[in-house]
Amino acid sequence: MKLRVTVLGAGFGGLELSSILSETIGDQLDLTLIDQNDSFFFGFSKLDVMFGHKSSEAVKISYSHIVKPGVKFRKETITAIDPVSKTVTTSNGKYEADVLVVALGANYDMAATPGLTTWGNEYYSFSGAEKLRDKLPQFTKGHAVVGVCSAPFKCPPAPSEAALMLHDYLVNRGLRDACSISLVIPFGLPIPPSPDSSKALLKAFEERNIRFIPQRKVTSVGENKKVTLDDGTELPCDLFLGIPKHVAPDVVLQSGLTENGWIPVDKANLRTKFSNVYAIGDVTSVGTPKAGVFAEGAAKIAAASIIAAFKGKENETPYTGAGSCYIEFGKGNVARVDVDFFSGPKPFGIHHEASETLVVDKEHFGSSRKARWFGK
Ligand SMILES: Cc1cc2nc3c(=O)[nH]c(=O)nc-3n(C[C@H](O)[C@H](O)[C@H](O)COP(=O)(O)OP(=O)(O)OC[C@H]3O[C@@H](n4cnc5c(N)ncnc54)[C@H](O)[C@@H]3O)c2cc1C
Repeated sequence: MKLRVTVLGAGFGGLELSSILSETIGDQLDLTLIDQNDSFFFGFSKLDVMFGHKSSEAVKISYSHIVKPGVKFRKETITAIDPVSKTVTTSNGKYEADVLVVALGANYDMAATPGLTTWGNEYYSFSGAEKLRDKLPQFTKGHAVVGVCSAPFKCPPAPSEAALMLHDYLVNRGLRDACSISLVIPFGLPIPPSPDSSKALLKAFEERNIRFIPQRKVTSVGENKKVTLDDGTELPCDLFLGIPKHVAPDVVLQSGLTENGWIPVDKANLRTKFSNVYAIGDVTSVGTPKAGVFAEGAAKIAAASIIAAFKGKENETPYTGAGSCYIEFGKGNVARVDVDFFSGPKPFGIHHEASETLVVDKEHFGSSRKARWFGK
Protein backbone atom coordinates (compact mmCIF):
# COMPACT_ATOMS: atom_id res chain seq x y z
CA MET A 1 0.00 0.00 0.00
CA LYS A 2 1.28 3.43 -0.93
CA LEU A 3 1.25 6.27 1.61
CA ARG A 4 -1.43 8.78 0.55
CA VAL A 5 -0.40 12.33 1.45
CA THR A 6 -2.24 15.53 0.59
CA VAL A 7 -0.10 18.68 0.82
CA LEU A 8 -2.11 21.91 0.93
CA GLY A 9 -0.12 24.81 -0.50
CA ALA A 10 2.91 24.70 -2.81
CA GLY A 11 4.93 27.48 -1.19
CA PHE A 12 8.27 27.16 0.62
CA GLY A 13 6.98 24.57 3.09
CA GLY A 14 4.83 22.46 0.75
CA LEU A 15 7.51 22.29 -1.96
CA GLU A 16 10.29 21.29 0.42
CA LEU A 17 8.18 18.64 2.16
CA SER A 18 6.98 17.13 -1.14
CA SER A 19 10.58 17.03 -2.43
CA ILE A 20 11.88 15.19 0.64
CA LEU A 21 9.06 12.63 0.65
CA SER A 22 9.57 12.00 -3.07
CA GLU A 23 13.35 11.59 -2.69
CA THR A 24 13.06 9.29 0.31
CA ILE A 25 9.99 7.11 -0.28
CA GLY A 26 8.95 8.11 -3.82
CA ASP A 27 8.22 4.53 -4.92
CA GLN A 28 5.84 4.05 -1.97
CA LEU A 29 4.24 7.49 -2.22
CA ASP A 30 0.95 8.81 -3.61
CA LEU A 31 1.25 12.54 -2.86
CA THR A 32 -1.06 15.26 -4.18
CA LEU A 33 0.27 18.81 -3.93
CA ILE A 34 -2.49 21.43 -4.31
CA ASP A 35 -2.16 25.16 -4.92
CA GLN A 36 -4.51 27.79 -6.32
CA ASN A 37 -1.71 29.45 -8.34
CA ASP A 38 0.00 28.15 -11.46
CA SER A 39 3.45 29.34 -10.41
CA PHE A 40 5.72 29.91 -7.42
CA PHE A 41 7.77 33.03 -6.60
CA PHE A 42 10.09 33.81 -3.71
CA GLY A 43 8.82 36.41 -1.20
CA PHE A 44 11.88 38.56 -1.81
CA SER A 45 11.03 38.78 -5.53
CA LYS A 46 8.29 41.25 -4.60
CA LEU A 47 10.99 43.79 -3.68
CA ASP A 48 12.70 43.18 -7.04
CA VAL A 49 9.40 43.64 -8.89
CA MET A 50 8.39 46.74 -6.90
CA PHE A 51 11.68 48.55 -7.60
CA GLY A 52 11.72 47.43 -11.24
CA HIS A 53 14.86 45.28 -10.89
CA LYS A 54 13.09 42.26 -12.41
CA SER A 55 9.92 41.67 -14.41
CA SER A 56 6.98 39.68 -12.98
CA GLU A 57 7.51 36.98 -15.60
CA ALA A 58 11.21 36.63 -14.72
CA VAL A 59 10.52 35.77 -11.07
CA LYS A 60 7.65 33.28 -11.55
CA ILE A 61 8.42 29.55 -11.76
CA SER A 62 5.66 27.41 -13.26
CA TYR A 63 4.43 24.44 -11.25
CA SER A 64 4.27 22.52 -14.53
CA HIS A 65 8.02 21.87 -14.02
CA ILE A 66 7.35 19.60 -11.03
CA VAL A 67 8.18 16.06 -12.11
CA LYS A 68 8.90 13.93 -9.05
CA PRO A 69 8.36 10.25 -8.25
CA GLY A 70 5.11 9.80 -6.31
CA VAL A 71 4.06 13.49 -6.63
CA LYS A 72 1.28 15.04 -8.69
CA PHE A 73 0.51 18.78 -8.70
CA ARG A 74 -3.07 20.04 -8.92
CA LYS A 75 -3.93 23.69 -9.59
CA GLU A 76 -7.15 23.97 -7.57
CA THR A 77 -8.56 26.21 -4.87
CA ILE A 78 -9.08 24.50 -1.52
CA THR A 79 -12.55 25.28 -0.19
CA ALA A 80 -12.81 23.01 2.88
CA ILE A 81 -10.53 20.94 5.13
CA ASP A 82 -11.83 18.20 7.41
CA PRO A 83 -8.92 17.34 9.72
CA VAL A 84 -10.82 14.42 11.31
CA SER A 85 -11.47 12.45 8.12
CA LYS A 86 -8.43 14.04 6.41
CA THR A 87 -10.61 15.01 3.49
CA VAL A 88 -9.94 18.12 1.44
CA THR A 89 -12.52 19.72 -0.84
CA THR A 90 -11.35 21.83 -3.76
CA SER A 91 -12.84 23.70 -6.70
CA ASN A 92 -12.48 20.42 -8.58
CA GLY A 93 -13.37 17.61 -6.20
CA LYS A 94 -12.41 15.81 -2.98
CA TYR A 95 -9.13 14.25 -1.81
CA GLU A 96 -8.81 11.68 0.98
CA ALA A 97 -5.46 10.89 2.53
CA ASP A 98 -3.61 8.99 5.26
CA VAL A 99 -1.60 12.12 6.07
CA LEU A 100 -2.55 15.77 5.62
CA VAL A 101 -0.01 18.61 5.61
CA VAL A 102 -1.34 22.16 5.83
CA ALA A 103 1.14 24.64 4.33
CA LEU A 104 -1.24 27.39 3.19
CA GLY A 105 0.81 30.36 4.41
CA ALA A 106 -0.61 33.70 5.58
CA ASN A 107 -3.11 35.96 3.82
CA TYR A 108 -3.64 39.69 4.27
CA ASP A 109 -6.55 41.57 5.82
CA MET A 110 -6.31 44.81 3.84
CA ALA A 111 -9.56 46.16 5.32
CA ALA A 112 -8.10 46.08 8.86
CA THR A 113 -6.16 49.29 8.07
CA PRO A 114 -8.48 52.00 6.76
CA GLY A 115 -7.10 53.69 3.66
CA LEU A 116 -4.31 51.15 3.12
CA THR A 117 -5.22 50.27 -0.44
CA THR A 118 -7.07 53.46 -1.37
CA TRP A 119 -4.74 56.27 -0.22
CA GLY A 120 -1.81 54.01 0.54
CA ASN A 121 -0.19 50.96 -1.02
CA GLU A 122 1.13 47.62 0.12
CA TYR A 123 3.95 45.54 -1.36
CA TYR A 124 3.38 42.23 0.45
CA SER A 125 1.05 40.80 -2.24
CA PHE A 126 2.38 40.26 -5.73
CA SER A 127 -0.28 42.51 -7.26
CA GLY A 128 0.50 45.19 -4.64
CA ALA A 129 4.20 45.10 -5.59
CA GLU A 130 3.26 45.41 -9.27
CA LYS A 131 0.98 48.39 -8.58
CA LEU A 132 3.77 50.14 -6.68
CA ARG A 133 6.22 49.46 -9.50
CA ASP A 134 3.89 51.50 -11.74
CA LYS A 135 3.26 54.18 -9.11
CA LEU A 136 6.80 54.81 -7.76
CA PRO A 137 7.95 56.79 -10.83
CA GLN A 138 5.27 59.41 -10.01
CA PHE A 139 6.78 60.06 -6.55
CA THR A 140 9.20 62.93 -7.07
CA LYS A 141 9.01 64.86 -3.78
CA GLY A 142 7.57 64.70 -0.27
CA HIS A 143 7.32 62.21 2.56
CA ALA A 144 7.54 58.45 2.10
CA VAL A 145 6.58 56.14 4.95
CA VAL A 146 7.32 52.40 5.07
CA GLY A 147 5.02 51.12 7.80
CA VAL A 148 3.95 47.90 9.49
CA CYS A 149 0.22 47.77 10.29
CA SER A 150 0.13 44.70 12.55
CA ALA A 151 2.24 41.85 13.95
CA PRO A 152 3.10 39.08 13.27
CA PHE A 153 4.24 39.83 9.72
CA LYS A 154 6.33 37.94 7.16
CA CYS A 155 10.07 38.36 6.94
CA PRO A 156 10.79 40.89 9.73
CA PRO A 157 13.77 42.42 7.81
CA ALA A 158 11.57 43.22 4.75
CA PRO A 159 10.37 46.68 5.95
CA SER A 160 14.00 47.73 6.61
CA GLU A 161 14.98 46.37 3.19
CA ALA A 162 12.19 48.37 1.52
CA ALA A 163 13.35 51.61 3.23
CA LEU A 164 16.99 51.06 2.16
CA MET A 165 16.00 50.12 -1.39
CA LEU A 166 13.68 53.13 -1.64
CA HIS A 167 16.63 55.32 -0.64
CA ASP A 168 18.73 53.88 -3.51
CA TYR A 169 15.80 54.21 -5.92
CA LEU A 170 15.44 57.91 -5.13
CA VAL A 171 19.21 58.55 -5.19
CA ASN A 172 19.44 56.95 -8.64
CA ARG A 173 16.70 59.26 -9.89
CA GLY A 174 18.35 62.32 -8.35
CA LEU A 175 15.35 62.89 -6.06
CA ARG A 176 16.61 61.87 -2.62
CA ASP A 177 17.10 65.46 -1.34
CA ALA A 178 13.48 66.29 -2.21
CA CYS A 179 12.13 63.32 -0.25
CA SER A 180 12.11 62.06 3.34
CA ILE A 181 11.85 58.39 4.34
CA SER A 182 10.42 57.12 7.65
CA LEU A 183 10.21 53.51 8.80
CA VAL A 184 7.56 52.47 11.35
CA ILE A 185 7.88 49.02 12.95
CA PRO A 186 6.33 47.47 16.06
CA PHE A 187 9.65 46.24 17.54
CA GLY A 188 12.22 48.13 19.58
CA LEU A 189 14.96 47.11 17.13
CA PRO A 190 14.87 46.28 13.40
CA ILE A 191 15.73 42.59 14.08
CA PRO A 192 15.19 41.89 17.80
CA PRO A 193 17.01 38.50 18.08
CA SER A 194 20.17 39.94 16.52
CA PRO A 195 21.56 43.08 18.23
CA ASP A 196 24.46 43.18 15.73
CA SER A 197 22.16 43.08 12.66
CA SER A 198 19.98 45.73 14.31
CA LYS A 199 23.02 47.91 15.02
CA ALA A 200 24.19 47.62 11.41
CA LEU A 201 20.72 48.53 10.13
CA LEU A 202 20.37 51.49 12.51
CA LYS A 203 23.77 52.76 11.30
CA ALA A 204 22.64 52.37 7.68
CA PHE A 205 19.42 54.31 8.43
CA GLU A 206 21.39 57.10 10.10
CA GLU A 207 23.87 57.34 7.22
CA ARG A 208 20.98 57.60 4.74
CA ASN A 209 18.84 59.95 6.82
CA ILE A 210 16.03 57.38 7.19
CA ARG A 211 13.93 58.14 10.28
CA PHE A 212 13.42 54.95 12.35
CA ILE A 213 10.23 54.93 14.44
CA PRO A 214 10.26 51.82 16.71
CA GLN A 215 7.49 50.29 18.87
CA ARG A 216 4.70 51.70 16.69
CA LYS A 217 2.17 50.42 14.14
CA VAL A 218 0.29 52.29 11.44
CA THR A 219 -3.44 52.24 12.16
CA SER A 220 -4.79 54.24 9.23
CA VAL A 221 -3.75 55.94 6.03
CA GLY A 222 -5.62 59.18 5.34
CA GLU A 223 -6.63 61.03 2.23
CA ASN A 224 -5.25 64.15 3.97
CA LYS A 225 -1.70 62.92 3.20
CA LYS A 226 -1.13 61.62 6.73
CA VAL A 227 -0.72 58.24 8.38
CA THR A 228 -1.85 57.69 11.96
CA LEU A 229 0.13 55.55 14.40
CA ASP A 230 -1.24 53.46 17.28
CA ASP A 231 -0.39 56.18 19.84
CA GLY A 232 -2.36 58.77 17.88
CA THR A 233 0.72 60.44 16.33
CA GLU A 234 0.24 61.63 12.76
CA LEU A 235 3.02 61.60 10.17
CA PRO A 236 2.94 63.51 6.90
CA CYS A 237 2.83 61.01 4.06
CA ASP A 238 2.78 61.44 0.28
CA LEU A 239 3.71 57.81 -0.42
CA PHE A 240 2.86 54.89 1.87
CA LEU A 241 4.48 51.48 1.46
CA GLY A 242 2.53 49.28 3.86
CA ILE A 243 2.88 45.87 5.45
CA PRO A 244 -0.75 44.73 5.92
CA LYS A 245 -2.26 42.78 8.79
CA HIS A 246 -1.61 39.04 8.34
CA VAL A 247 -4.27 36.37 8.87
CA ALA A 248 -4.59 32.63 8.24
CA PRO A 249 -6.50 31.80 5.03
CA ASP A 250 -10.30 31.62 5.58
CA VAL A 251 -10.40 27.91 4.69
CA VAL A 252 -7.97 27.25 7.56
CA LEU A 253 -9.90 29.44 10.01
CA GLN A 254 -13.07 27.49 9.18
CA SER A 255 -11.42 24.07 9.57
CA GLY A 256 -11.24 23.92 13.37
CA LEU A 257 -7.44 23.72 13.19
CA THR A 258 -6.71 27.22 14.55
CA GLU A 259 -6.47 28.77 18.01
CA ASN A 260 -6.06 32.55 18.28
CA GLY A 261 -5.93 32.82 14.51
CA TRP A 262 -3.10 30.37 13.69
CA ILE A 263 -2.56 26.59 13.83
CA PRO A 264 -0.85 25.44 17.05
CA VAL A 265 1.62 22.58 16.49
CA ASP A 266 3.88 20.37 18.56
CA LYS A 267 7.18 22.07 17.84
CA ALA A 268 9.11 18.78 18.07
CA ASN A 269 7.40 17.27 15.00
CA LEU A 270 4.91 19.86 13.58
CA ARG A 271 1.90 17.69 14.38
CA THR A 272 -1.45 19.38 15.03
CA LYS A 273 -3.93 18.15 17.62
CA PHE A 274 -5.54 15.97 14.90
CA SER A 275 -4.03 12.55 14.22
CA ASN A 276 -1.78 12.46 11.12
CA VAL A 277 -2.43 16.12 10.35
CA TYR A 278 0.68 18.32 10.23
CA ALA A 279 1.01 22.09 9.72
CA ILE A 280 4.14 23.96 8.63
CA GLY A 281 5.23 27.49 7.83
CA ASP A 282 3.45 30.82 8.12
CA VAL A 283 0.04 29.29 8.87
CA THR A 284 1.26 28.02 12.27
CA SER A 285 2.01 29.66 15.62
CA VAL A 286 5.13 27.50 16.14
CA GLY A 287 7.14 30.43 17.54
CA THR A 288 9.51 31.30 14.68
CA PRO A 289 9.06 34.37 12.48
CA LYS A 290 6.96 33.96 9.35
CA ALA A 291 9.69 33.40 6.75
CA GLY A 292 10.46 30.94 3.98
CA VAL A 293 13.59 29.58 5.65
CA PHE A 294 11.61 28.64 8.74
CA ALA A 295 8.80 27.09 6.66
CA GLU A 296 11.49 25.05 4.92
CA GLY A 297 13.09 24.00 8.22
CA ALA A 298 9.70 22.94 9.59
CA ALA A 299 9.04 20.98 6.37
CA LYS A 300 12.23 18.97 6.90
CA ILE A 301 11.16 17.91 10.41
CA ALA A 302 7.53 17.21 9.42
CA ALA A 303 8.80 15.08 6.50
CA ALA A 304 11.16 13.18 8.83
CA SER A 305 8.23 12.56 11.23
CA ILE A 306 5.97 11.34 8.41
CA ILE A 307 8.67 8.98 7.05
CA ALA A 308 9.53 7.67 10.52
CA ALA A 309 5.84 7.01 11.31
CA PHE A 310 5.43 5.24 7.93
CA LYS A 311 8.30 2.94 8.93
CA GLY A 312 6.80 2.39 12.40
CA LYS A 313 9.42 4.57 14.10
CA GLU A 314 9.62 7.97 15.79
CA ASN A 315 11.68 10.89 14.43
CA GLU A 316 14.41 11.68 16.97
CA THR A 317 15.54 15.04 15.51
CA PRO A 318 13.61 17.97 17.01
CA TYR A 319 12.92 21.23 15.17
CA THR A 320 15.48 23.89 16.22
CA GLY A 321 13.75 26.84 14.57
CA ALA A 322 17.05 27.82 12.93
CA GLY A 323 17.49 29.60 9.60
CA SER A 324 19.48 32.19 7.68
CA CYS A 325 17.81 35.35 6.42
CA TYR A 326 19.38 37.59 3.80
CA ILE A 327 18.99 41.36 4.17
CA GLU A 328 19.15 43.73 1.19
CA PHE A 329 21.33 46.55 2.50
CA GLY A 330 21.18 48.72 -0.60
CA LYS A 331 24.16 49.85 -2.74
CA GLY A 332 24.21 46.33 -4.22
CA ASN A 333 25.12 44.65 -0.91
CA VAL A 334 23.41 41.91 1.05
CA ALA A 335 23.91 40.96 4.74
CA ARG A 336 22.89 37.72 6.44
CA VAL A 337 21.61 36.87 9.88
CA ASP A 338 21.72 33.27 11.15
CA VAL A 339 18.97 32.94 13.74
CA ASP A 340 18.16 30.10 16.10
CA PHE A 341 14.88 30.27 18.00
CA PHE A 342 14.65 27.06 20.03
CA SER A 343 18.14 25.67 20.78
CA GLY A 344 19.11 28.15 23.48
CA PRO A 345 17.31 29.74 26.44
CA LYS A 346 16.30 32.62 24.16
CA PRO A 347 16.41 33.33 20.39
CA PHE A 348 19.78 34.55 19.16
CA GLY A 349 21.16 35.73 15.82
CA ILE A 350 24.66 35.98 14.35
CA HIS A 351 25.22 38.88 11.95
CA HIS A 352 27.30 38.67 8.76
CA GLU A 353 28.24 42.12 7.43
CA ALA A 354 26.77 43.30 4.14
CA SER A 355 28.99 42.39 1.20
CA GLU A 356 28.97 41.53 -2.49
CA THR A 357 29.91 37.93 -1.57
CA LEU A 358 26.60 37.56 0.20
CA VAL A 359 24.81 38.76 -2.95
CA VAL A 360 26.17 35.62 -4.62
CA ASP A 361 25.17 33.57 -1.56
CA LYS A 362 21.59 34.86 -1.80
CA GLU A 363 21.45 34.10 -5.53
CA HIS A 364 22.61 30.55 -4.76
CA PHE A 365 19.92 30.27 -2.07
CA GLY A 366 17.27 30.98 -4.74
CA SER A 367 18.80 28.95 -7.58
CA SER A 368 19.44 25.89 -5.41
CA ARG A 369 15.77 25.82 -4.29
CA LYS A 370 14.65 26.28 -7.91
CA ALA A 371 16.80 23.33 -8.98
CA ARG A 372 15.71 21.15 -6.07
CA TRP A 373 11.97 21.84 -6.26
CA PHE A 374 11.53 22.30 -10.03
CA GLY A 375 14.58 20.59 -11.59
CA LYS A 376 15.47 23.89 -13.27
C1 LIG B 1 8.38 41.35 0.70
C2 LIG B 1 8.70 39.99 1.24
C3 LIG B 1 10.03 39.58 1.34
C4 LIG B 1 10.34 38.33 1.86
N1 LIG B 1 11.67 37.94 1.93
C5 LIG B 1 11.98 36.74 2.45
C6 LIG B 1 13.34 36.32 2.53
O1 LIG B 1 14.26 37.03 2.10
N2 LIG B 1 13.59 35.12 3.10
C7 LIG B 1 12.60 34.31 3.57
O2 LIG B 1 12.90 33.22 4.07
N3 LIG B 1 11.30 34.68 3.52
C8 LIG B 1 10.98 35.86 2.98
N4 LIG B 1 9.66 36.25 2.91
C9 LIG B 1 8.61 35.42 3.55
C10 LIG B 1 8.25 34.19 2.74
O3 LIG B 1 7.84 34.54 1.43
C11 LIG B 1 7.12 33.42 3.43
O4 LIG B 1 7.33 33.42 4.81
C12 LIG B 1 7.08 31.99 2.93
O5 LIG B 1 6.71 31.97 1.58
C13 LIG B 1 6.15 31.13 3.77
O6 LIG B 1 6.13 29.83 3.27
P1 LIG B 1 4.81 28.94 3.46
O7 LIG B 1 5.11 27.64 2.78
O8 LIG B 1 4.40 28.91 4.87
O9 LIG B 1 3.66 29.73 2.69
P2 LIG B 1 3.64 30.31 1.22
O10 LIG B 1 4.98 30.25 0.58
O11 LIG B 1 2.95 31.61 1.30
O12 LIG B 1 2.74 29.25 0.44
C14 LIG B 1 1.36 29.10 0.70
C15 LIG B 1 0.69 28.62 -0.58
O13 LIG B 1 -0.66 28.27 -0.28
C16 LIG B 1 -1.47 28.63 -1.38
N5 LIG B 1 -2.86 28.80 -0.93
C17 LIG B 1 -3.33 29.61 0.04
N6 LIG B 1 -4.67 29.45 0.17
C18 LIG B 1 -5.03 28.51 -0.75
C19 LIG B 1 -6.28 27.91 -1.10
N7 LIG B 1 -7.43 28.21 -0.47
N8 LIG B 1 -6.29 26.97 -2.08
C20 LIG B 1 -5.13 26.63 -2.72
N9 LIG B 1 -3.94 27.16 -2.42
C21 LIG B 1 -3.90 28.09 -1.46
C22 LIG B 1 -0.85 29.94 -1.87
O14 LIG B 1 -1.18 30.16 -3.23
C23 LIG B 1 0.65 29.70 -1.64
O15 LIG B 1 1.31 29.25 -2.82
C24 LIG B 1 9.31 37.48 2.34
C25 LIG B 1 7.97 37.87 2.21
C26 LIG B 1 7.66 39.11 1.67
C27 LIG B 1 6.21 39.51 1.54
